[in-house]
Amino acid sequence: MAIENVIIVGSGPSAYTAAIYSSRANLKPLILEGEANAARSVDIPGGQLMITTEVENYPGFPKGVEGPELMSLMREQAERFGTRIETGWVESVDFSKRPFTLKTSGAQYQARAVIIATGAGAKFLGIPSEKLLMNKGVSACATCDGALPPFRNKHLIVVGGGDTALEEANFLTRFASKVTIVHRRNQLRCSKIMEDKGRKNPKIEFLWNSVVEEILDAKAGKVTGVRLKNTLTQESSVVDAAGVFIAIGHQPNTTFLKGHVALDEPGYVKVTKGTYTSVEGVFAAGDCVDHVYRQAITAAGMGCMAAIDAERWLETQGH
Ligand code: NAP
Repeated sequence: MAIENVIIVGSGPSAYTAAIYSSRANLKPLILEGEANAARSVDIPGGQLMITTEVENYPGFPKGVEGPELMSLMREQAERFGTRIETGWVESVDFSKRPFTLKTSGAQYQARAVIIATGAGAKFLGIPSEKLLMNKGVSACATCDGALPPFRNKHLIVVGGGDTALEEANFLTRFASKVTIVHRRNQLRCSKIMEDKGRKNPKIEFLWNSVVEEILDAKAGKVTGVRLKNTLTQESSVVDAAGVFIAIGHQPNTTFLKGHVALDEPGYVKVTKGTYTSVEGVFAAGDCVDHVYRQAITAAGMGCMAAIDAERWLETQGH
């Protein structure tokens, strides 16, 4: 089996940036990207930006850029310098000896250095009805599903109070008759600009201090509404709706690393000294590490750091 210099796991801004830098350093990196699988919502090659509409804050695009276009440009740039890209979820790793081993369902790879850039995926409420009605009116991706016929000209619910919730709600107003944002507090977490946009949108309403107890109607096999609980009064109420979009944040895609690399309690990869993980020769970058900034530009910056760290480390190992 060929031993790769660097395997980069992931396909978002940090993975592609790491690839651009490592390929320009003549390391001929191999990217292992996940397979497209809409049911997994954000685990689409290209990462979360593939399910984002307009990105207005990525420097260099004064008029904004569509998320998927930005990803395809980064991919093209990485390939231009010789990055190879293969598709397959990394299911297990052996980092106990070098070269490191990574296994997907169909193949096995070996590498001298590894850059983990697997990003993060949508979090769910964890109530049974959410699972039962997934893709039957429940979604974590307005961009993927918002334009579908069952949601058109209907009342839709968005759960959450962060930038994602506001962005999803704004996007959904293109199709829906009304969008209600259900938030567990009476203060939004999102940026001021997103809050203003939401409050100015005549199709958006807010339901404060409310949590979803149940999504209705699992028996009917489709979403007909939600049963909410007011967190202050503990009173329950039912709100009719044709769809529920969950936008309550993300969790790192690091399950396959458990026991192999040090992770913190929520599962983010612990890094020290830039992008060094607990295993020498394994580096990590982007949203699988960062639960603070979580921006495309910060992920890209960390991807660059990981590539430089890996290159310098490989040099110390005589490669
Ligand atoms: P987030 O900022 O963590 O917000 C998650 C929201 O969901 C919070 O309002 C939280 O409530 C709520 N929540 C969490 N768990 C919940 C639960 N179990 N039940 C009900 N509500 C729950 O996540 P995000 O909105 O996905 O944003 C993540 C990062 O991406 C942020 O840094 C954000 O700035 C960035 N982002 C940027 C843009 C943009 O610039 N256009 C767009 C999308 C995301 P509490 O407020 O009570 O904690």
